[in-house]
Amino acid sequence: MSEDCIFCRIVDGELPARVVYEDDDVLAFLDANPLAPGHTLVVPKDHYETLGDLPADEGEAVFAALHRLTPVVEAAVGADGSNVAFNNGEAAGQEVPHVHGHVIPRFEDDGGRPVHAVAGSRPDLSDDELDAIADDIAADAE
Ligand code: 5GP
Ligand code: ZN
Repeated sequence: MSEDCIFCRIVDGELPARVVYEDDDVLAFLDANPLAPGHTLVVPKDHYETLGDLPADEGEAVFAALHRLTPVVEAAVGADGSNVAFNNGEAAGQEVPHVHGHVIPRFEDDGGRPVHAVAGSRPDLSDDELDAIADDIAADAE
C-alpha cells in the first residue's frame, strides 16, 4: 500500500469506486472519467508502478481478470469491440503510478482511433536494425 496512491486507497476502501470485480489479487472498477460507457480499470491489489515491476503471478492474475471482464463489459454496454491497454510508464501517458489495464468499450462510428494512433511518428528502420532489435528482445525474453 502506498499512502498517497489513489488506487491503493480505492483497494483499501478509503476512497469510493464502482467496483465491478474482485478476487484475492485484483480489483476492477469503473473509470471516474470514462472515455466510453463501461470504461473499466483493472488493478493488482498490491502497489506496483509498471508492468515490469509486477511479479509474474500478479501479472497473470491481472490478465486473467482482463480476459474474464472484457466480454462482460462489452456485453453490459452493448459495445461492438474494445481497446484493452496499459499506459505503461509516464512517457506512455501513465498518470496514476499504480499498474492498471484499461478496458475501453468501442462502438461502430464512435470516432475513436485504434491503438496504432497512440505513438509518435513511425520510425524508418532497416532490416538490419529490425534484426538487431528482435535479437535483443528474444535474448532477454528467455
Ligand atoms: P492512466 O493515464 O494513468 O493510464 O489513467 C488513469 C485513469 O484513472 C484515468 O482514465 C482516470 O480517469 C482514472 N482515474 C483517476 N483518478 C481516479 C479515481 O479516483 N477513481 C477512478 N475510478 N478512476 C480514476
Ligand atoms: Zn497504489
